[in-house]
Amino acid sequence: MKITEVRIFTRDNSDDKVKAYVSVTFEDAFVVRDLKILEGVNGLLVVMPSRRMHISCSECGYKNRYKSRFCNQCGKNIEKVSQQIPVSRKEEYRDIAHPINTEMRNYMQGAIIKAYEEHIKHSGNADKADMEEIS
Ligand SMILES: [Zn+2]
Repeated sequence: MKITEVRIFTRDNSDDKVKAYVSVTFEDAFVVRDLKILEGVNGLLVVMPSRRMHISCSECGYKNRYKSRFCNQCGKNIEKVSQQIPVSRKEEYRDIAHPINTEMRNYMQGAIIKAYEEHIKHSGNADKADMEEIS
């Protein structure tokens, strides 16, 4: 499966760990959005789109934040419910779409980082050109 387009949406706030949001098109036919590029300890990191998991209250069905001890709506103690969730499913965030092998993961990371670096390079050049014009 080939990536046919990578779109980079950079963020203005350079202090933020999230450097850019990314959407990736496969085979000109399938788009995955909301991937993120993070500034990690060992350089840039591509993160798959994920959603925050919830705990449903057994009493009223309200979807509570993970690790909540009491239901936000009815006040029922839901600590027991959260303890019954298997450890393997306890992450607060779960990927919505992701590669299932290292080869695909590396291919995607490479393509996305390359697109990001090119995006940065081009926007850098654009700024320079503007400045030269003014002087
Ligand atoms: Zn409740």
